Amino acid sequence: MDIDSLTFGPDGLIPGIVQDRAGAVRMVAWLNRDALLRTLDTGFVTFWSRSRQALWTKGETSGNRLRLVQIRPDCDADALLILAEPEGPSCHRGTETCFDPSLEGPSGVAPWPSTLPWLGRLEALLKARKASADPTGSYTQKLFAQGVDRIAKKVVEEAGEVILAAKNEDREAFVGEAADLLFHLEMLLVDRGASLLDVVAVLHHRHADRTGGPA
Ligand SMILES: [Zn+2]
Repeated sequence: MDIDSLTFGPDGLIPGIVQDRAGAVRMVAWLNRDALLRTLDTGFVTFWSRSRQALWTKGETSGNRLRLVQIRPDCDADALLILAEPEGPSCHRGTETCFDPSLEGPSGVAPWPSTLPWLGRLEALLKARKASADPTGSYTQKLFAQGVDRIAKKVVEEAGEVILAAKNEDREAFVGEAADLLFHLEMLLVDRGASLLDVVAVLHHRHADRTGGPA
């Protein structure tokens, strides 16, 4: 990225939208030229605080820094998409993002939790369940406590049910079985120390030339 090709506003600022690897939008804040240089220099996302009129490295007091992965200017170079690995929650409220994912849309439905990045949150939940594996706990805690063979067996079972459901005309049952399969596959990934993001990276590597650049 060429800093000189960017268009900063009359106040010397450009908005930075921070996105994590799971696709969640973490926060939005402003950068000036110095903030951008500091970000590129240190590898940690740094903004310009309009209220304090000072450079502000995200997480400098909370420790919840944003480790820079890549900066992509938009089409007319007056906004930045900042891809970063968060080292903790990004919002001062202690939530992962500044945008509340549980807020309902105007139609009364909550559209965002059901999008693909939500799978990242499910994975985080499954990691917590594995860390608290317990033979007397919840379904998931019990299954983690029973170990890889039991989880793998569930994946095979659910795969068989997906195949049976696919051949019926009941779309709802089919999607439900697919959800069961994906859930248990996620459990198996987490149990083996892998992530759905690793799977996506492999798929992306295989198909990048037909689906466009970096995800
Ligand atoms: Zn916030």
